[in-house]
Amino acid sequence: MAGDLRALVLHDVGGGKVEARIETIAESALPAGDVTVAVEHSTLNYKDGLVLQGQGRLVRQYPHVPGIDFAGTVERSDSPAFAPGDKVVLTGWRVGELHWGGYAQKARVKSDWLVKLPDGLSTVHAMAIGTAGLTAMLAVRALERHGLEPSGGEVLVTGAAGGVGSVAIAILGKWGYQVAASTGRPEQGDYLRGLGASTIVDRASLAAQPTRPLDAERWAGAVDAVGGTTLATVLSQLRYRGAAASVGLAGGTDLHTTVIPFLLRGVSLLGIDSVMAPKAEREDAWHRLALDLPLDKLDAMIQRVGLGDLPDLARRILKGDVRGRVVVDVNA
Ligand code: NDP
Repeated sequence: MAGDLRALVLHDVGGGKVEARIETIAESALPAGDVTVAVEHSTLNYKDGLVLQGQGRLVRQYPHVPGIDFAGTVERSDSPAFAPGDKVVLTGWRVGELHWGGYAQKARVKSDWLVKLPDGLSTVHAMAIGTAGLTAMLAVRALERHGLEPSGGEVLVTGAAGGVGSVAIAILGKWGYQVAASTGRPEQGDYLRGLGASTIVDRASLAAQPTRPLDAERWAGAVDAVGGTTLATVLSQLRYRGAAASVGLAGGTDLHTTVIPFLLRGVSLLGIDSVMAPKAEREDAWHRLALDLPLDKLDAMIQRVGLGDLPDLARRILKGDVRGRVVVDVNA
């Protein structure tokens, strides 16, 4: 029927379990919002993996349409900020968690949450970046605001072969940094070097709880997607006045450390949140991503899938078994 659309819908099937089904839903079922977008592409982030697996208590109401990011074309707008035909991207704002998200052919959202796609960036590339890539840019920008510069020494990226890690390496490499990529997948060494890493670090060497508060000074800065004991180790290895941007928790949420690196080396721990980041910061980050992220490197990170592939990929991303970035064609 006209106005019907295809979506991946999550249902609560009891016992703390959810089931994903591809369904046709009426456009009138979409939530309230002042802009309707014809979605072209979405993606799979670690958080989408949690949502699709019913984990993390991120979704409170079912049936639910997941997908924390999407990119597409404005179809209808009651907002003066957007007109039909505008290419837009949405990441975060708890879309795909509290609000229906991008795993559907259409989405209705608040105009405040949308960013116009910078010129030259397709909806495929926007979703190859997605929340993971935007977060990587926010992290590198935060490190630079702190004083990081290419002459300062090696920058460590943990969770390197994942989404945030892959984009962080490509940005840092493009901006002239020497990048050390920490991975548990040594077979991805060529991939990581291709993105811009010059050193590959075995993630096991960072994973044990540090036994002393200060280790040898190694990193001028770090983008950390792993957390837990890895972040504790990174803090003990930062150079004098270095900083770590804490982005993720793929390896754990606890952080047992001492204040010694902060007091004796003046290091800093910078928190990165992409979900509620102010609009101006997002626009700036998207602008820089469009300008500076080499498209050949971005292309090397992508696997393209359809909605039906997502449940399996969700299990895999939570196991750290997805390389780079996933682009979902919601019309496939
Ligand atoms: P991915 O799954 O794509 O990447 C995570 C990577 O972490 C994996 O590829 C793997 O890299 C490594 N890893 C996985 N499990 C472990 C483990 N047990 N111990 C050590 N390393 C592990 O996820 P994303 O890149 O999408 O997200 C990364 C993290 O960042 C997630 O925790 C996510 O929730 C968080 N995040 C936070 C945001 C924010 O706003 N703060 C926004 C986006 C993401 P390898 O195989 O190379 O070792």
